[in-house]
Amino acid sequence: MPTPTGVGTEELRRANLRAILQTVHTHGPTTRAALTKQLGLNRSTIGALTVELQSLALVSEETAAVGGRSGRPSHLVVPREDNVVVAVDVGVDRISVALVGLGGEVFERRHRPHQRGEHDVDHVVDSVAQMIGDVLGGAPGRRCLGVGVAVPGAVRAGDGLVRFAPNLGWVDAPFTDLLSKRLGKPVSTGNDANLGALAEHVRGAAVGYSDVVYLSASVGIGGGFLMGGRPLTGSSGYAGEVGHMQVDSGGPVCRCGAFGCWETKIGENVLLRRAGRLAGGGPPAVAEVIAAAQGGEVRAAEAVAEVAEWCGIGIRVIVNLFNPEVVVLGGSLAQIWRAAEDRVNDALSRSTMMSPREDVVIRAAALHDDSPLIGAAELAFAPVLDHPQAVPHAV
Ligand SMILES: [Zn+2]
Repeated sequence: MPTPTGVGTEELRRANLRAILQTVHTHGPTTRAALTKQLGLNRSTIGALTVELQSLALVSEETAAVGGRSGRPSHLVVPREDNVVVAVDVGVDRISVALVGLGGEVFERRHRPHQRGEHDVDHVVDSVAQMIGDVLGGAPGRRCLGVGVAVPGAVRAGDGLVRFAPNLGWVDAPFTDLLSKRLGKPVSTGNDANLGALAEHVRGAAVGYSDVVYLSASVGIGGGFLMGGRPLTGSSGYAGEVGHMQVDSGGPVCRCGAFGCWETKIGENVLLRRAGRLAGGGPPAVAEVIAAAQGGEVRAAEAVAEVAEWCGIGIRVIVNLFNPEVVVLGGSLAQIWRAAEDRVNDALSRSTMMSPREDVVIRAAALHDDSPLIGAAELAFAPVLDHPQAVPHAV
């Protein structure tokens, strides 16, 4: 939060610099006048802080006419997009790498499919390092402020050790450390669903909400939670393993060893097999099943209906437990939601307690499949947004 008392000490100065930089990073170019109003600081303070952010090469100023021709020109504070981070999303089927500028725009982008059997940690580090070299090579003259990575697993807060990523076959994988050593840069790693929740909260379907659940399905199911505007992490950073809540006591055995976990009922491959398709086709195969269902294929329609039903049943548990304002659905859950919203809603409403159900909004992720990637960028920007004066000077 901004501090309303001007620049008295270094601590205050830093808090105010942070407030301005976060505002323009999140909301884009903002006039000095608007910053003065929003942050409760006086004009000369905003002016001095903006000059400091310019000297750090984090913002530039443009003159903009406000209020048409007769309006006074106003100084527009613009985030400098030549400050970039590298965002990485290590999915089960593919790796995505992007350069994201201060202000949130995605520039260079690369995707590389990777198959089962290519998930060895060293192999993934090699692939990611090559892709990062590629995107940075395509963007000379930009200042790289950090690297953020989303992985589908439990990541230890503090050192980024990937404790458990079942769909990659990783247990206690020192991925973050290895990548950081390879690149010679600091790397921050987070759980993909937590980062998806963050991204949707900052730039997507959950803007303006403070109690947010983000659920995303591919092979497994990820859950990311913001409660009261803060990430729900648990004591060690592993909260939100919603894929392994039991929804069907007579259900099939899960990779985790338990029976009837949610991901054994709604994972991407569950839908594909139920529809008589081969597992492993990813989002295009899910889209094909949904199209076939809509085209009248009975087996596909039954599969979509069944998975939609189990989606609603799982969301019901989560809504009852957390009373969110909004549930944002990503991955194949977004596809199922768009295709069978009524079916999901029926199962959700059947026995959800009335008040939490009445309050909650359910919607597909606005950033589509980019939510974890954009969240990884936000993770990489976080140290600079928190302490602008610590930004490396060389551009
Ligand atoms: Zn399980």
